[in-house]
Amino acid sequence: MNNSSVINAAIALSQKLPIPLKRLADLAYNYWWSWSTDRVSLFQTIDPHHWESCGHNPVAILESATYERLTQLAEDPFYLKQISELTREFDKYMTQQDTWVSRVAPQVSSEHPIAYFCAEFGIHESLPIYSGGLGILAGDHLKSASDLGVPMVGIGLLYRQGYFRQKLNHNGWQEDYYVDNLFHQMPIELIKNQQGEPLTIELEVRQRMVKVQIWRAQVGRVSLYLLDTDRHDNDPIDRWLTGHLYGGNQETRIAQEVVLGIGGVRTLTALGIKPSVYHLNEGHAAFSTLEVAREEIERTGKSFYDIEASVKSRCVFTTHTPVPAGHDVFSPDMMDSFFAHYWPKLRLSREQFLALGARRLGDPWEPFGMTVLALRMCRASNGVSELHGQVSRKMWMVLYPERSEDKVPIGYITNGVHAPTWTAPLLADLYNQYLGADWKTRAIDPKMWEKVDEIPDEELWWRHQILKERLIAYARYKIKKAREHRGEDYHLVQSTDSLLNPKVLTIGFARRFSPYKRGYLLMRDAERALRIFGNAERPVQIIFAGKAHPADEEGKRIIQRLMEWCKHSAIQHRVAFIEDYDIYVGQKLVQGVDVWLNNPRRPLEASGTSGQKVCFNGGINCSVLDGWWCEGYKADAHGKGINGWAIGEDAHTSDQDLQDSIDSESLYRLLEEEIVPLFYEQDANGIPHRWIQMMKASIKTNAPLFNTDRMIADYVSQVYVPEIATSVEPILAKVLV
Ligand SMILES: *Cc1c(COP(=O)(O)O)cnc(C)c1O
Repeated sequence: MNNSSVINAAIALSQKLPIPLKRLADLAYNYWWSWSTDRVSLFQTIDPHHWESCGHNPVAILESATYERLTQLAEDPFYLKQISELTREFDKYMTQQDTWVSRVAPQVSSEHPIAYFCAEFGIHESLPIYSGGLGILAGDHLKSASDLGVPMVGIGLLYRQGYFRQKLNHNGWQEDYYVDNLFHQMPIELIKNQQGEPLTIELEVRQRMVKVQIWRAQVGRVSLYLLDTDRHDNDPIDRWLTGHLYGGNQETRIAQEVVLGIGGVRTLTALGIKPSVYHLNEGHAAFSTLEVAREEIERTGKSFYDIEASVKSRCVFTTHTPVPAGHDVFSPDMMDSFFAHYWPKLRLSREQFLALGARRLGDPWEPFGMTVLALRMCRASNGVSELHGQVSRKMWMVLYPERSEDKVPIGYITNGVHAPTWTAPLLADLYNQYLGADWKTRAIDPKMWEKVDEIPDEELWWRHQILKERLIAYARYKIKKAREHRGEDYHLVQSTDSLLNPKVLTIGFARRFSPYKRGYLLMRDAERALRIFGNAERPVQIIFAGKAHPADEEGKRIIQRLMEWCKHSAIQHRVAFIEDYDIYVGQKLVQGVDVWLNNPRRPLEASGTSGQKVCFNGGINCSVLDGWWCEGYKADAHGKGINGWAIGEDAHTSDQDLQDSIDSESLYRLLEEEIVPLFYEQDANGIPHRWIQMMKASIKTNAPLFNTDRMIADYVSQVYVPEIATSVEPILAKVLV
């Protein structure tokens, strides 16, 4: 793309490799490999054991391999053929000129890319700087932007210890711990200036100047710049500014958001990047709008109000939170301590400055809201599903007293997932055969997905079955290790080898254990749940994963209750909990389950994306009609699900206990009367044809809509460059202006 895509660290690494393996260094430093055809085997083969222990980090694998092993591979013609095929694919990808964007929006040039800001990015498990849905969405956003040729750069923070890691003790209580990221061994590069010193920017935080250095992770054609304050010349406290993701108190939080927003814009300037659009993915990055304004004021000498419209014309915002309490707000005192030096540079008084983030004007105690600031300073704002758009318009009506609710300027673009990342290689291979070798680049084409009907049931089933076996083997491996680690009884440890059964209907439930996600709903009537799971002829099994935020005691109690439930003698071999949910665990789960369960309290799931990942793998959703599933779920004339199941009635009540009771009753009934009978209706060869019909419907109806290529196409045509009439039909989005 531009010369900045040369990665010096890759050149240095390649010099340590035997000649025929040199190009592995280029692959290792570009996360493109993680969604290429090959995915893992090229790096894994070097040292399968270390591949696991280093967290699937290709740079660490190459750095630590012995020369003896490397030369052994360098004389293996099969291995060399694999490298040459993959590098050919890589070079073609990186130099491709005829991209989707070059056809529909050639005016978006790499000189003026979209700058995409987010507090977390989930690209791959070897770059653990994400906590969950928001980060994974951001990672998938960059990957699809790269695939479609959208000029984009990402801006985020490089957390020394990332998000906390999860371990459960023998009481089933979550214990949190942190692991240091060793940046120099990761597939990222520290940006240097012309003198060969780390390039830094400076900003004032808590009355001290802080120096920030910048790392780059390469995500296909997109560069992701990550800010890091862990430098010797910073105050020890400031070195921890980028220590933890979502750790610490309000003060850490605002400090991090200053680094992300203000530091992010300064980073772009230092790199000579002049974005055409600043996209704030969630309110955390909203201070960036102020810095864009400050730069313009400094350059032009104009007042804030003179340049406000020009700043606004370049900023866009995506909100993700459907509850008021989920939006960051800071007290006026806190704002004073962080911004007293700053508002004069905007030529604003304290009152004028604080008004930018105030929901209501005139109240001196009114906190400063990041979402409010973003809504005020951005020309376009959107929620992440149709329902979430509605909820957001209602929630933020207060800012637009002159407008009726439906005219509140917040639209929606429904989230999606990056198909090549989340589709199991074994199914991708099947799609290659039946949908065409170019299926990954045509993910938005519903006609192409219709061809799923041509896949013979047996073919789809054996592949799904293998993926389920893989998931179960992985679950046993992880759980056995966890039990050994806890010092559990010998027999319990040994019994892990027969935990779960690939022939049994398998449900997956993996999500943050936040009370609103209702991880306990399935156990609400313990007797009935035991009858369903422990049924002798038609049993059901479930695999759980997910963390509770360290400060969320109630969430931790839900996990503890689940662990207690796992021990019940009637079902102990049918229930499993995989610790430390991350992208890798997520992939194994969404690729191997029969049914994906999602039972949040409506409408608190803004979109959700894990259920979308399941669809690409032939799994079937059983979910409350919330978030994306409101748009995905299809029923026949009798109200029976065609492509999955809907939990709950149309009636909604604010009485939480009553709602839980209605929804759990509905869930039990679905399991007993529909899901279990359908799954066990199998022919003499054990093939459940009617079930497979539903798997195919799940793929056909959802895959063309809930992928990030469709989502990026919508962002380009409705948000980034609304003046173009793209050749891609807007499929779901509607952004009100
Ligand atoms: C997809 C994913 C999420 C987000 O899924 P939800 O449906 O929003 O719960 C969170 N964590 C991981 C590891 C994921 O892969």
